[in-house]
Amino acid sequence: MKSHIILSVLLLTFCTIYSQKIDPEIKSSSEKIETKVIEWRRDFHQNPELSNREFETAKKIAKHLKELGLEVTENVAKTGVVAILKGNKEGKTVALRADIDALPVTERTDIPFKSVVKTTFLDTEVGVSHACGHDTHISILMGVAEILTKHKDKINGTVKFIFQPAEEGPPPGEEGGAKLMIKEGVLKNPDVDAIFGLHINSGTEVGKIRYKPGGTMAAVERFVINVKGKQTHGSAPWSGVDPILISAKIIDGLQTIISREAPLVNEAAVITVGKITSGVRFNIIPESAEMIGTVRTLDPEMKSLVIKRMREMVPAIAEAYGGTATIEFQNNTSITYNDPDLVQKMLPTIQGIAGKDNVILSKATTGGEDFSYFQEVVPGFYFFLGGKSPEAMTTTSHHTPEFYIDESGLLLGVKVMSQLAIDYLNAQ
Ligand SMILES: [Zn+2]
Ligand SMILES: [Zn+2]
Repeated sequence: MKSHIILSVLLLTFCTIYSQKIDPEIKSSSEKIETKVIEWRRDFHQNPELSNREFETAKKIAKHLKELGLEVTENVAKTGVVAILKGNKEGKTVALRADIDALPVTERTDIPFKSVVKTTFLDTEVGVSHACGHDTHISILMGVAEILTKHKDKINGTVKFIFQPAEEGPPPGEEGGAKLMIKEGVLKNPDVDAIFGLHINSGTEVGKIRYKPGGTMAAVERFVINVKGKQTHGSAPWSGVDPILISAKIIDGLQTIISREAPLVNEAAVITVGKITSGVRFNIIPESAEMIGTVRTLDPEMKSLVIKRMREMVPAIAEAYGGTATIEFQNNTSITYNDPDLVQKMLPTIQGIAGKDNVILSKATTGGEDFSYFQEVVPGFYFFLGGKSPEAMTTTSHHTPEFYIDESGLLLGVKVMSQLAIDYLNAQ
């Protein structure tokens, strides 16, 4: 009998270490808080605010965190809120991040709490909605803050809750987002050792989590090319230099960087010219042309190569045709790079909660995410949480009026984020 007991204890210890199931108290606290998380989400959903204008959103977040008794700092990177929870023992610091901004998208769903908010964006009246699902991120993290505060006896170290504004990008001429938060010292004092973040995903079924080690979302560069030619009559091109023709040659040339020079076996890369402006009428060869576009890369070396070759090629092509051209880059996000060691270490936590079959190794996406800036400073792990109803026949895309999230997916996010923080700190 005694040997049975010893064997059972050993087996239990073994299972606890190697399967890292959810702590039963965290599980029950998460389940108890689910209704509240959904209520918060509906409130944020009905009251969305654009990037760098998340004033009321931030107030509600700060109020909740203060009520929990946490050390709260407001107005970080304009409207961001940061809270610190000290566990019962000294240890490392882990950060959990939620982005809080909405989009200038007019919602066209028939949910009872749909947004009817309107505002002015770049001098145009627009509808505002949480068409990327950041409302779910806020409420999940508010729930996690409440759970971890309640169970702070389980925490060996410090948890920093980062509610980040302007993930979708600040309005033109303004700073904002993760970049500004880092500049204002969000990863310091106490210094953050690792950071976790999630994004709800309308294309992934509820109960499932997708992840990828290494480059998981792309570095986003915006570029502007200015081509200068020489204006002349459309009937006599030989007496001028045609900037439209040069632009065509440049577009063609840029695509060969991807198809002939980038090592595509490593990762994908994209160059897109999204806008061309030139000319006034049919019989005038204009003086100049402007092209605006984007570059997406998932590997730091490929990023350097593609940008270097674009810088070389653009003026060289223009010169070959008798004109001149300049290219300027603006970095919008870095590579969302999941630290492979951190992923390997924390994966059992996620698998233990969601079930191994529900944690899916995914391909990278060429969209961008400014969580990447945190990952440039500290190791981070960013993954996707299922928000698609199992019975849904089609997927609604993010950033569209029809965007829809099944709220039953939120609970898994609460459990996973809570347990990740605990397991990361306790493994040190
Ligand atoms: Zn988005
Ligand atoms: Zn988003």
